[in-house]
Amino acid sequence: MNLTGIVYRPPYEADSLLLQVTKGCSHNKCTFCSMYPAVPFAVCPMEQVEADIDEYARYRPDAKRVFLEHGDAFVLSADRLMKIAGIIHRKLTKVETIAMYASIQNIKHKTDEELRQLRACGIHGLDIGVESGLDEALTYMNKGHTALEAQEQLLRLTEAGMDYSFNAILGCGGAERWMENADATARLINAVQPHLLFIGSLHAEPGCRLYQDMKTGIFKECTIGQLLDEQERLIRQLDLDDTYYFGSHPSNIVPMQGYLPDQKQDMIEAVRVIREHLHAHLDEYPTRGGEGSILNR
Ligand code: SF4
Repeated sequence: MNLTGIVYRPPYEADSLLLQVTKGCSHNKCTFCSMYPAVPFAVCPMEQVEADIDEYARYRPDAKRVFLEHGDAFVLSADRLMKIAGIIHRKLTKVETIAMYASIQNIKHKTDEELRQLRACGIHGLDIGVESGLDEALTYMNKGHTALEAQEQLLRLTEAGMDYSFNAILGCGGAERWMENADATARLINAVQPHLLFIGSLHAEPGCRLYQDMKTGIFKECTIGQLLDEQERLIRQLDLDDTYYFGSHPSNIVPMQGYLPDQKQDMIEAVRVIREHLHAHLDEYPTRGGEGSILNR
């Protein structure tokens, strides 16, 4: 199987077949990202993709879901994605859905008709790093989209019948804007009503600009107390019809999962309990390990 370097996938794609169709990320310049600094973006040759599908057909013929790698595989043209989906369905006949990481710009570059055709090919469940609903945070994080663009493009996906995960990062606004970040992000989430909400909290590893900016104080990180307050403020303002909140990422001070709106009060209570437990440490900064995991929980 041709998988280049470190391979990232969302936690809920653990059982999916990972099929590499691109290398690196076509954007590769988010301020907080150190995923593919040394991987020049490239499109994988179709022969290689087909050979990998053949290999999966031999070893995992019953697979139901395929996750396309790498950083933003949805950057591929609709034609190429449909061609890949066609080969997958022909050779892996049990596959029901095909997912991948996507950026707001990737969606913008496809027509409504192409989005509908991609959905008809089984492409469903994009994983989208929206990160924040606050334009100042999006600009600093160099995401390449505004909150309004995110709203417009995510609604186009819904219109095309495609589910997606809205990925948001607590702490994106830093210590000075955590309240605004919570408010603006909740507004955007409410406006688009995602099927899945994937919440993490901001952390930086050596090799990205944010790491330097945190060290020099250009970016002021949230304290433990601010992260807890932001999480509670965000959850309180969420007004969702039917969304699964997936917040079990190790970077979160309060890992939690649940259905919204049904489990909203339980989630707020979980934050309250942890705040009480950490009351002596609320002004401290999180100590983090690999993947931003919180060590002083
Ligand atoms: S779009 Fe994703 S993979 Fe690409 S630079 Fe940003 S965070 Fe990293």
